[in-house]
Amino acid sequence: MKPLLFRNLTAILPDCLVDEAWVLCEKGKIVSVSKKRPKMAREFEVIDGSGGYLAPGFIDMHVHGGDGADFMDGTSEAVRVACRAHARHGTTTIFPTTTTGSPEQIHAMLDAVKTVKSEKCLMNGARIEGVHLYGPFFAEDKVGCHSVSGRRQPVAAEYRAYFESGLVRIATCAAELPGAIEFYHEAKKRRCLITCGHSNASWPEMVAAFKAGMRHVDHFWCAMSNVASVRSRLGVPMRGSMLEFVLGTADMSTEVIADGCHLAPELLDFAFRLKGPRKLCLVTDANRALDLPPGNYRFGAVADGSWFESDGRVGWSQGRTSLASSIVGMDHMMRQMKRDTSATLPEVVRMASLTPAELTGIAKRTGSLEAGKNADVVLLSRKLEVRSVFIGGVELQT
Ligand SMILES: [Zn+2]
Ligand SMILES: [Zn+2]
Repeated sequence: MKPLLFRNLTAILPDCLVDEAWVLCEKGKIVSVSKKRPKMAREFEVIDGSGGYLAPGFIDMHVHGGDGADFMDGTSEAVRVACRAHARHGTTTIFPTTTTGSPEQIHAMLDAVKTVKSEKCLMNGARIEGVHLYGPFFAEDKVGCHSVSGRRQPVAAEYRAYFESGLVRIATCAAELPGAIEFYHEAKKRRCLITCGHSNASWPEMVAAFKAGMRHVDHFWCAMSNVASVRSRLGVPMRGSMLEFVLGTADMSTEVIADGCHLAPELLDFAFRLKGPRKLCLVTDANRALDLPPGNYRFGAVADGSWFESDGRVGWSQGRTSLASSIVGMDHMMRQMKRDTSATLPEVVRMASLTPAELTGIAKRTGSLEAGKNADVVLLSRKLEVRSVFIGGVELQT
């Protein structure tokens, strides 16, 4: 494989833009990012950026599927289909995410992910760094669009078996559930990013969770507690909720679904201004309807997941009473965040690359345009549309 020399573009670094940059990649790694053309001893291939941008490949820590496949379908082909679909939108590292379902369905998902991950095939799309164990340990009153019958309390014998797969890198559990603290301790032993989601937790429950290692909250404002929801659960006095705890605790990180449908611009900008680009991530939370026409689809396993409707912009739960996650890719999230908030382009891109890499412990090898990191890069137009995607220095064939 010849070295690749990217030219005629603006490189997006975590804290600045480099105009007229030269980016050299060799043997699957980034070798240099410079203002000067590097001296080349051997033959190489030039990639013309046509005056656009070069960004690090995006990293999605919360994503259920795409192009008709949900990771919970539990087949290796479903995993490949979803990883390829997200790669077309610029995601080069992905954490397939479980939902509510039976232990058998979750094990089938873990097995399918393990198969595809072990193939180490660049044609499979986004690299799998691990699984986000998201469902089934949700609070009953915050289960959202997921199937209620598939949610339950955490029991050690069940979740230990998931952790034993060696794949789980992100672990979610609602903090108020009996057994949550033991779950967090186990997840901490396995060095997971520990998150609280689909939860109606109060401030004191968040404090206990934080002591046990919880540091992140899933999709801010969605399926999480607020003062009013905690009051309806625990009565008066009014208590702090997940919202105040995350905003008031510097070490807590969170994520937003910036698809333009879940959160209004003022909320996206508020989250950015209060948490900053090092503690706020962009996630797609995309379901199988990504890149599919409007219609009715199942969330979770194709056999028995709950039905939702895609209107071509976003997913809706039945009866259109609430949203059922996004149907767009990370490229869309990035453009929306740029349009809707005061974040600069390097900050927006950081929230979709280096920040999730840091939170999940993979920043040494990916997440930014830096010498020594994987040559996982995305060529963008001036309008931030994906032109081409490279994973390990190999261009993704769409
Ligand atoms: Zn959710
Ligand atoms: Zn989700």
